[in-house]
Amino acid sequence: MQHEYLGDGISVIDIGLERPRFGACYLIESNGAAAIFDAGTNYSVPRILDTLAARGIARDDVRYLIASHVHLDHAGGIGALARELPRAQVLAHARGVRHLVDPSVLQASAEQVYGADVVADSYGALVPVPAERIRALGDGEDVDLDGRVLHFIDSPGHARHHVTLYDAASASWFTGDCFGISYRDFDGGSEPMIFPTTSPVQFEPDAMKATIARMLERRPRAMLLTHYSRIDDVEARARTLLRLIDAQVDLAHRYAGRDDAVPALTEALQQLFHAEVRRLGAPVTEDETRRLLAIDAELNAKGMLIWVEREKNASRNGPG
Ligand SMILES: [Zn+2]
Repeated sequence: MQHEYLGDGISVIDIGLERPRFGACYLIESNGAAAIFDAGTNYSVPRILDTLAARGIARDDVRYLIASHVHLDHAGGIGALARELPRAQVLAHARGVRHLVDPSVLQASAEQVYGADVVADSYGALVPVPAERIRALGDGEDVDLDGRVLHFIDSPGHARHHVTLYDAASASWFTGDCFGISYRDFDGGSEPMIFPTTSPVQFEPDAMKATIARMLERRPRAMLLTHYSRIDDVEARARTLLRLIDAQVDLAHRYAGRDDAVPALTEALQQLFHAEVRRLGAPVTEDETRRLLAIDAELNAKGMLIWVEREKNASRNGPG
């Protein structure tokens, strides 16, 4: 299924990256007007347009395309999508705007992290967003979607160009990558499996914890994750996330500086995540867990090690 209606005027759309239920974006409806939170990749555009048609929403009634942040699985397709939805305004963090107007830096840095072949296969050539169609969101800003209030906060931790969206109508946050990853493949145990995403290059553990705390202040009923879909029992999931952020920080300090730091930390994270799967009694074997989490374990390891290095340089240079 490429899209699913979740109630409260919200549909989750599978962006078609990697495997089913790996990455999502969301359609939010209000009185026939619509917003799309995250845009997937160039290859997600037909899926999003199909969802609009299935929900009976005209292309001209899409008012906003929102990038949680400018990582390519969230905003790689936003320029291509904007071409198809000519009346929609693109909204993004102030630090992300120039990268969506001129995606050359995003394209190059993604090629550095993932390799040029993977970027071509998974994302294609990024399409610029015309400057006159994009606007930066301020922290605490409310945007009106035909009577539905979309409330945005600046949410660093995963990336400094990240915003999250609180939707009072459903009492839920659209979290992007700020409230971890919870793949539905691991459902069936005592609770959903969840872990933080610490991918390169701007992960900051204290900021991530502060962002989680700020989201909890609203006492949300649910979190709508890009990876993947809705989870509830938010306070319990937050406790797990905070514990795993600390565990990842400890492991990163243990392995940083070694010649084999990336593979060794990747393996340590695989073991950490598998221990979670076992704890929950999720019906997934260790081999299957390793396969499902291979990309995330390696990205998390790389992001953690970059953070350790940055911290070391900052303390060497002293404050200010
Ligand atoms: Zn991200």
